[in-house]
Amino acid sequence: MALCRSVQGSIDDAVLEKDDRSPVTVADYGSQALVCRSLAASRPSDPVVAEEEAGALRRPEQSTFLARVGRELASVGVEAEGKTICDWIDRGSSQPCQRFWTLDPIDGTKGFLRKGHYAVALALIIDGRVEVAALGCPQLGDPAAGGLVYWAVKDQGARVAPVGNPNDSRPVQVSDCQDMRLARLCESVESAHSAHDRSARIAEDLGLGGQPVRLDSQAKYATVADGAAEIYLRLPVNDTYREKIWDHAAGALVVSEAGGQVSDTHGRPLDFSLGRTLSANRGVVVTNGPLHERVLDAVLASTPSDQHGDGNHD
Ligand code: AMP
Ligand code: MG
Repeated sequence: MALCRSVQGSIDDAVLEKDDRSPVTVADYGSQALVCRSLAASRPSDPVVAEEEAGALRRPEQSTFLARVGRELASVGVEAEGKTICDWIDRGSSQPCQRFWTLDPIDGTKGFLRKGHYAVALALIIDGRVEVAALGCPQLGDPAAGGLVYWAVKDQGARVAPVGNPNDSRPVQVSDCQDMRLARLCESVESAHSAHDRSARIAEDLGLGGQPVRLDSQAKYATVADGAAEIYLRLPVNDTYREKIWDHAAGALVVSEAGGQVSDTHGRPLDFSLGRTLSANRGVVVTNGPLHERVLDAVLASTPSDQHGDGNHD
């Protein structure tokens, strides 16, 4: 996370305007290299299914770029040659299997670029179930101090601590709100990732009092888990997109271990046993638990006519 913060801090406005995504890529590669390196040391036989791969980075014409990734790694105390860095990154190129880790080295790229929320999300999946989750959220808590890390172990609850201070942890618990008028909704900043018009109708239907809070990345899962919102809606904008496992595995376990509930927009549990995508699911509905059925009813009532399918036709 220190590496990501360093890269995010050096994105200047000119780069943002030009929409040059290279700083993101440096941070994506750097974050994936560090997490895969650490898993290689601690769990050498576990495969990793991660978002990035180093194919492009290995090309001679990318040597300057690779050197930049190397400098970012060195800035957090990890000195390595280019080939070693690429090999770490490519430890993330495994296929999903009986037991594997899934990693999003920078979730919420758009948020990262606009200096907003993003997350580093890692989860262990065994037999299609998420067993362990770690979710780094550099912009939650005190961003100047590095943000917060949430973690959860199946059936053992969820905890959170400031980055670099694991001994200062506390349990994570969803809000006990049962009053829909007081319930707070969060959703993606990007309307291309979740239908804002539909969530506005649902919020009105439910009688929610306030405006939705928009933030990028799985920081939304952390926000519901930590009792700062009661509802997170991710409403499909079309019937073709399939959610990626690394965009949900860590967040979903943190919420359910904090006492909340996670399903898709049809009320089905998220199915992590089907490969790199949640191909049997459509969208996501996350709540503190007591509100789930009522939220789901409103979501179902608002389902567009082209999204009533059984979710198994891809
Ligand atoms: P968020 O920050 O919650 O808006 O989600 C960011 C994630 O949305 C990225 O990691 C992408 O994998 C994912 N994404 C990309 N396109 C779509 C889409 N059409 N619908 C839903 N999620 C998407
Ligand atoms: Mg992502």
